[in-house]
Amino acid sequence: MENTQLNDTRLSSHFKLGEFLDLGKYPDNKPTMQLVANMTYGCLMLLEPARQMVGPIIINSGFRNSRVNALVGGVRNSQHLQGQAADIRPQDPSQFQRLVDFLRACEHTDQLLTGPGWLHISWNPFVLPRHFVRIGYYK
Ligand SMILES: [Zn+2]
Repeated sequence: MENTQLNDTRLSSHFKLGEFLDLGKYPDNKPTMQLVANMTYGCLMLLEPARQMVGPIIINSGFRNSRVNALVGGVRNSQHLQGQAADIRPQDPSQFQRLVDFLRACEHTDQLLTGPGWLHISWNPFVLPRHFVRIGYYK
C-alpha cells in the first residue's frame, strides 16, 4: 500500500493508522494486516473511550518495526513491535491525570507506565490483560 493510503486508513472514529506509523520520519515502518488489527483493538477498547474522557489524544509513538524500535531504544520484546502499545499524551495537558486515572481503571489495560506528561499504554487482544501499572516509572 502507498504511504498516503496507510496514513488515511481509519482504525476507529478518531484515530488513523498514520498516527501509529510516523511514516514521515520512518518511511519503512509498515505493519502487516494482523498488526493493524491489533492497533484497531487498542483504539476501540482503550484510546476511543479515553478520548471521550479527556479530548484529543496525541500518539508520540505507536507501531514500531524492529528497525524503528532499535532506533528509539525500545526493549527487544516491546509491545510496540506487535501493534499492542502506544505512548500518548492528551492534547490538553491539564487532562493528564484524568487520562491516567481512566486507563488505570480500564479492564483492557495490559500495561500502564507513566512519565512526566505522557504515558505508555499497552493491550493484548489474545490474552487476559495483566493490568500491570507503574506510576512515575519513566523519568
Ligand atoms: Zn511505549
